[in-house]
Amino acid sequence: MVTQAQIIEWLQVYANVIDHHKEELTELDAAIGDADHGINMERGFKKIKTLIGTLKGQDISGILKTVSMTLISSIGGASGPLYGTWFLRASAIAADKEELTAEDLLYLLQAGLNGVLERGKAQLGDKTMVDVLSPSVAAYEQALSEGLDVVPALRIAVAAAEHGLQETIPMLAKKGRASYLGERSIGHQDPGGTSAYLMLRSLLEAVES
Ligand code: ADP
Ligand code: MG
Ligand code: MG
Repeated sequence: MVTQAQIIEWLQVYANVIDHHKEELTELDAAIGDADHGINMERGFKKIKTLIGTLKGQDISGILKTVSMTLISSIGGASGPLYGTWFLRASAIAADKEELTAEDLLYLLQAGLNGVLERGKAQLGDKTMVDVLSPSVAAYEQALSEGLDVVPALRIAVAAAEHGLQETIPMLAKKGRASYLGERSIGHQDPGGTSAYLMLRSLLEAVES
C-alpha cells in the first residue's frame, strides 16, 4: 500500500532531489536544448515545497491535482505541460482512494505515461522522458504479474528507468528542442528522461520509508 503520507514524502524527496540535481539537469539541457531544464523543474518544485503544508490536508487525488496545476502554471517549456499532464492523469486514478494498492500504482503509472504520450506525441526511441517512463511501467507491470508487491516491483521499475535513461544517450532526438540538433543530439543523455528517472527513484525512496 502507498499512503497519503508517502505521497507527500515522495514530493518532498523529489523537490529536494531536483534542488540537488538542478545544475546537472541544466547542463544536460545545455548540450542538446536551451539550458533551462534544471531551472524549470526547480521553479515548479520550489513552489510545491511551499505548498506541502496545505497538501497535507488533501487526499491523494487532490494532492496530485494540486501538483499538476502548480507545474502547469509555474514551469514554462515542454516539461511543464508534460509533467502537469502526468500528475493530472495520476490524480484521476487516485480519485476516492485513501491508499493505493500495488495495482492502483500500476494504473497510475500507466495513466501518467499515456497522458505524456497523448500530450507530447513522442514515440519510444525519440529520446524523451517516454524512454524512461515507458520501460519502467512495463517492468513494474511484469513484476506485479510475478507476484511482487509495491516496493520490490518499484525497485525493478527504477532499475528499468535507469537502463532506459542510459539508452537515451545514443539516440537521435526526434521530439522537442533536441530534435533541432539532428545528429548532434547523439551521445547526450536526455534531460527530461533524467528528471523522470529521479521522480521514480524518489517515489521508491518514499515508499521504502
Ligand atoms: P524546453 O525544451 O521547452 O526548454 P525543458 O528543457 O524543461 O523544456 O524539457 C525538455 C525535456 O522535455 C526533454 O529532455 C524531453 O525529455 C522532454 N520532451 C520534450 N518534448 C517532448 C515530447 N514531445 N514528448 C515527451 N517528452 C518531451
Ligand atoms: Mg530546455
Ligand atoms: Mg526552455
